[in-house]
Amino acid sequence: MKGVVVHRAGRVITVACALVLAASAAGCGPAPVERSRPALGTAVAITAYGEDAETAVESAYLAIAEVETATDAYDPNSAVSTFNTDPYTAAYLPPEVLEIRGAVERLGVGEAFSMALLGVVRLYSFESSPTIPAPGDLALAVAAARGFTLQGDGQGVFARVKDPDPRLAAGAALAPGLDLGGAAKGLALDRAYAALAAAGVDAAVVSAGSTTVTLGSKPDDEAWRVGIEDPRDPATIVAVISGPEALCVSTSGDYQKFFESGGLRYHHILDPATGSPARGLRSLTVFGPRSTLSGLDADILSTALFVMGPDAAIPYAEEHGLGLYLVDDEGRARVVPAPETSGIVLDEEAEPTP
Ligand code: ADP
Ligand code: MG
Repeated sequence: MKGVVVHRAGRVITVACALVLAASAAGCGPAPVERSRPALGTAVAITAYGEDAETAVESAYLAIAEVETATDAYDPNSAVSTFNTDPYTAAYLPPEVLEIRGAVERLGVGEAFSMALLGVVRLYSFESSPTIPAPGDLALAVAAARGFTLQGDGQGVFARVKDPDPRLAAGAALAPGLDLGGAAKGLALDRAYAALAAAGVDAAVVSAGSTTVTLGSKPDDEAWRVGIEDPRDPATIVAVISGPEALCVSTSGDYQKFFESGGLRYHHILDPATGSPARGLRSLTVFGPRSTLSGLDADILSTALFVMGPDAAIPYAEEHGLGLYLVDDEGRARVVPAPETSGIVLDEEAEPTP
């Protein structure tokens, strides 16, 4: 497309939007095990402390791979892809999908988060040839996504209405389908957390770039530190979240996957009501202690609250005892602090780019 600037197209996006910051001084005790491997369309980094950390890290990567195999709509061999080949027939889905569905319902984010946006996301071809969808196609794909029914465990999940429009037929470009890209990283990180804990690791941090979870307390008693990038200058850290114990942090931003055309930014966080990129924010980070916020919840919420916009996201965070850092579309930062009892603090380091 003419006049379009593509940023970070391609499946592997290795630039993190929440950076785990190194400790200022080396702690005592054995050196941690540190690994980084491609998974979930990004690089997943694990640092683990403790005697059997090496084996534990391997089991954590296996747990992440299991979630990916179940949920990745862009891997033709995944369970979700198999389902998507005929979305009009009710089918049993792996427990990962049901867990994500359960979390979306429990979090009460209404229509801001949709598990069924595959047909809509495809229209933008973010990964290959960025395209502004034709309004008619977009309306059709949005209606099909809204027609998805998520039944009880016994009946599986399926698209309710087989629209007579042949463009929505199974296998057609606009066909509806599950896209769990807004939640899978968080779930995978929770599974990695559980694997590390089960293997006896006392302290660890797992980061998929936009979502980060920590386990236990760092052996040197330093706080965990997670940096938030400036959405218009991602090399600059604008705020640092620090906390002494297990915490979860997730960022959604309009700068992670996008193209520009006619002075507008078309990015990958879509409003399910319209199929268009959600407007009003450049980035939104949600954070809290694991006792109140899992990695899965954090991942879903960063996407959903981004779609809901600042006026709804801030009261939601306040009501639910969550920390929030957002940068609006004029570059102004706003903060909802985490509850004092969590011990989690957000320090603003720099003003975001206006
Ligand atoms: P990242 O993938 O960078 O961690 P997000 O967690 O915000 O970012 O997820 C964005 C992805 O989620 C998109 O690429 C798309 O696959 C999917 N998505 C986009 N908008 C929504 C939405 N409103 N609800 C659910 N999933 C969405
Ligand atoms: Mg998300």
